[in-house]
Amino acid sequence: MIPYSRQSISEDDIQAVVEVLKSDFLTQGPVVPQFEQAVADYCRASHAVAVNSATSALHLACLALDVKPGDIVWTSPITFVASANCALYCGASVDFVDIDPDTYNLSVERLTEKLAEAECQGRLPKVVIPVHFGGLSCDMVAIRELSRRYGFKIIEDASHAIGGRYRDEPIGNCRYSDITVFSFHPVKIITTGEGGIAVTNDIELARRMALLRSHGITRDANQMTHEPDGPWYYQQIELGFNYRMTDLQAALGLSQLKRLDAFVERRNQLADLYRKRLIDLPVNWQVQPDDCRSSLHLFVIRLQNSRIGKSHLEVFRLLRNADIGINIHYIPVHLQPYYKNKGFKLGDYPEAEKYYAEAISLPLYPDLTEWHLCEVAKVLGASLN
Ligand SMILES: *Cc1c(COP(=O)(O)O)cnc(C)c1O
Repeated sequence: MIPYSRQSISEDDIQAVVEVLKSDFLTQGPVVPQFEQAVADYCRASHAVAVNSATSALHLACLALDVKPGDIVWTSPITFVASANCALYCGASVDFVDIDPDTYNLSVERLTEKLAEAECQGRLPKVVIPVHFGGLSCDMVAIRELSRRYGFKIIEDASHAIGGRYRDEPIGNCRYSDITVFSFHPVKIITTGEGGIAVTNDIELARRMALLRSHGITRDANQMTHEPDGPWYYQQIELGFNYRMTDLQAALGLSQLKRLDAFVERRNQLADLYRKRLIDLPVNWQVQPDDCRSSLHLFVIRLQNSRIGKSHLEVFRLLRNADIGINIHYIPVHLQPYYKNKGFKLGDYPEAEKYYAEAISLPLYPDLTEWHLCEVAKVLGASLN
């Protein structure tokens, strides 16, 4: 089976992890801070807080921005559930902004309209979480402008997007947001097995996330309520979690980071080849605005259903039966039973629902060969006949 995505692990990656295994610290050692510094440098952000998943990073980001019961957080319905769940963890409520049919990102027009309505109703969001779908940046200049006007904070869910660029700068520099989150799950651009990171230019937000990552415990005398009882002393000053990344994971991440640019280049080359091979088929793909360079986590096609004699499901089955591990990203979050129980329903976000009826993610990862890619294109062509 050709998967839709998979990690690329080199001998150097393996060696890096083995080094840590032979060292004194498997966790809470020196490699996590090295990895944090390397990611911050790469993104040109001031601070990075590494954690055990992007889901944890999103949770900490919401907590650091003081999301709490009574608050509202908005995100895209076409994302992994974690982009919305993070707000619920904090007791806040979630609402969605429909997508743009060409970029599959949250639509700035819909956001603008929804903010105007929310202002009238006194229901403005505290935080908006734009998701850089497939590694393609949202229109951050426009979202930043709206945030100034309406006073919301911004967490970029860049789980797909490390190595991507926006306006000639790395995604994650937080020029247009308060915090940016990346995922290092094996299907994403670089991996730490499981893992995630939050980057920010605000030292207070970084401190808060670092504190909450490890039980809300501090060893910094300046943060304590009184002088330490002795050298062993620590204080728990908030209710935190164990969201720590291990040194084993950080070593893998540091090693993978060296190949990040090559991974993104290769993904872009393969996507170009798909576009060439699929040009005559009744399918669309994500439009790439000129001021963006996607990290190409996903290559999604949308079937032009009216020009195809088969259903979306039939096409999906034909490809899977041909051992091609295509997938669908994503089932609209508002249609998940958990969210339906909160009152969301079919019809709420028509563009997201139309997208869901057409989308298929084709295999794309650095070690995918051109030969295999052409096979995928061939089988797809035959399936649409
Ligand atoms: C993968 C993903 C996450 C969650 O990442 P984990 O590291 O698996 O917790 C969150 N948001 C989006 C958009 C994702 O694709």
